Amino acid sequence: MTATRMAKVGAQESTAIRELRESLFGELVLPGDEHYDEARQIHNPSIDRRPEMIVRAADSIDVIRAIEFARSAGMQVAIRSGGHCLSGHSMIDDGMNIDLSRMKQVNIDQENRTAWVQPGATTADLVAAIEPYGLALTTGDTATVGIGGLTLGGGIGWMVRKYGLTIDSLLSVEMVTADGRLVTASKRENPDLFWALRGGGGNFGIVTGFEFQLQQVGQVFGGVLILPATREVLSGYASYAPNAPDELTTITMVMHLPPLPFVPEDHHGTLAFIIFVCYVGDPDAGQVAMTPLRKLAEPIAELIAPMPYSALYNFTEIGAVPHDSTIRSGYLRELSGDVIDMLLDHARQNPMPMGLIQIRALGGALKAVPNESTAFPHRDKKLLLALINIGTGEAVERWVIDLWERVGPSTEGAYVNFLDDEGEARIRDAYSPEHFARLAAIKRQYDPENVFRNNQNILPAE
Ligand SMILES: Cc1cc2nc3c(=O)[nH]c(=O)nc-3n(C[C@H](O)[C@H](O)[C@H](O)COP(=O)(O)OP(=O)(O)OC[C@H]3O[C@@H](n4cnc5c(N)ncnc54)[C@H](O)[C@@H]3O)c2cc1C
Repeated sequence: MTATRMAKVGAQESTAIRELRESLFGELVLPGDEHYDEARQIHNPSIDRRPEMIVRAADSIDVIRAIEFARSAGMQVAIRSGGHCLSGHSMIDDGMNIDLSRMKQVNIDQENRTAWVQPGATTADLVAAIEPYGLALTTGDTATVGIGGLTLGGGIGWMVRKYGLTIDSLLSVEMVTADGRLVTASKRENPDLFWALRGGGGNFGIVTGFEFQLQQVGQVFGGVLILPATREVLSGYASYAPNAPDELTTITMVMHLPPLPFVPEDHHGTLAFIIFVCYVGDPDAGQVAMTPLRKLAEPIAELIAPMPYSALYNFTEIGAVPHDSTIRSGYLRELSGDVIDMLLDHARQNPMPMGLIQIRALGGALKAVPNESTAFPHRDKKLLLALINIGTGEAVERWVIDLWERVGPSTEGAYVNFLDDEGEARIRDAYSPEHFARLAAIKRQYDPENVFRNNQNILPAE
């Protein structure tokens, strides 16, 4: 608690705090408590914020108690599920952090192939619960990312071309409003809110449960194909991958090759084009779908085989280790020769060991859903480009910013889950003007005082 506040309201506030602590099923963590430093740590270790209090909620009732307390005490709130947001918004200085990371339950309805998932479940928690039934949900590329933030921003995952965004599998949501009400949103109940929660981020309330439709997937045909990073390879990939069979989703990186055991030694440290593959379907058909990619150049290495969906996360383990990073991103309608030259030139001329140029092919089932049916407005885009540098320091940041200055003007829009703390104009880029206006109107209805402002914030419409 800030010294000034403490001095002002001292004993009176202590009673209120004690009452809050006693009313919770979960835990109240205050500065000086044994778990305080651990509880204020999010995935990015350089975010060093000190909330006045952390409510580690155990259920929706705890969340209601927390928000009522915060509002009566005039405290700002920040909401944390998996703690992976790239902007650091899920931790706060001075206010209350409402931490949902212990709300991890996953309840499966096998007959209807649905799951009720609490927001603090990580992707790994969810996959571990549903995979034994042969069921899957399209989730992001890293096991530790929280279902809460991933879903509210859209969720561009390993099966995006087959099953769309994570929100395209969302059936209903349970949410605590700014005034402490527990509401349900679905296509039938509060449909406007349901629309907004599918892409509008954490602007409308605190989501305490998601109901998802799952898919019977079994094993996937997945792994990694490594090609030389050339203009022809990148151009060929960008032409083929967004139009490939919907079963094939790929996530690629232009980066310097780490010394992986299946990569020939003479390629260690060289610039390469790494294609992570998830084919949902018969492996023979998967081989056929991969043929045009294999033909782009003599592969440097390949490791693709039938595997459980969860095994894909072995390829992205590095992302699961807490790290600082800088990111800039935008969509591309095509990958022009000029943009490819800028990307390759920058990666070669200013090498950074963990400087990654990520390109994701979109299309498929993502595109099949009308743009206006959810708050995610970029379904017509073919590619998502992200420049990511893992690590700390000015040089790390510079590598991303310099390249972004060159290629950013060729991109369109923004993916809200890939935004850093980049300001209001970039938040608007994440939506079309029509989407943004509708989101602002729904924000006015559910959070007119902008209680939920520590996020990629949309102000309530005037
Ligand atoms: C290593 C890494 C890999 C990633 N890979 C992918 C990927 O493949 N695909 C993809 O789409 N994204 C990806 N992301 C981005 C990720 O989806 C977002 O950072 C997302 O916000 C993380 O969710 P979280 O719950 O872990 O984060 P948190 O930091 O807990 O939450 C992020 C924000 O979401 C809001 N929020 C979270 N939970 C709730 C809730 N229950 N109620 C209301 N608001 C809430 C809050 O505003 C919060 O500030 C990745 C991020 C990282 C760091």
